[in-house]
Amino acid sequence: MNKAVFLDRDGTIIKDRGHINDLKDIVFYNYTFDCLKELQKEFLLFIITNQPGVAKGIINSGNLNRIHSYILQKMSDHGIDIKEIYCCTHRKEDNCICRKPNTFFIDAANDKYSIDLENSFVVGDHPSDIELAIKVKANGIYVLTGHGQKHFRELNFNQKQKIRIRSNLKSATRTIFKLINNGTYGLYN
Ligand SMILES: [Mg+2]
Ligand SMILES: [Zn+2]
Repeated sequence: MNKAVFLDRDGTIIKDRGHINDLKDIVFYNYTFDCLKELQKEFLLFIITNQPGVAKGIINSGNLNRIHSYILQKMSDHGIDIKEIYCCTHRKEDNCICRKPNTFFIDAANDKYSIDLENSFVVGDHPSDIELAIKVKANGIYVLTGHGQKHFRELNFNQKQKIRIRSNLKSATRTIFKLINNGTYGLYN
């Protein structure tokens, strides 16, 4: 079984610039590549992102593909292997099966890569990332970059009990290694 880190895209590995429809709006945090290089030593890496701007007509689907190819290219330039970018392009009101916090993409990753979810992580800046972590019984880390500050108060008590809150991906990475080194993931097992 493989351990994985499921990373949110906007506000977690790149800056949140609203609905991104142009490569020039892709700005990686200065710690992103270092963090992912470390994480991939122990974990398979996936990106899971909701991009409702596509269904809303704000993001062109060709541009979305170019953006994701660009992200994968940058990652590969840094020696980082992202196994998959999973992207929901629907609106909330479409009630699709793939929009986070639905578990569809993690289920797909699990089918293809057989993931040890209890020892895997979901990192993101939105309550839906945390809800997703809880649903699949992975370890959730809520980061305060992107929309993290803004949505923090939307996290309910139950969610706050079950996750860890860190200032950004860098401190989340440090926490992940502390946990695996101590063998204390803790919240579910
Ligand atoms: Mg986000
Ligand atoms: Zn969807």
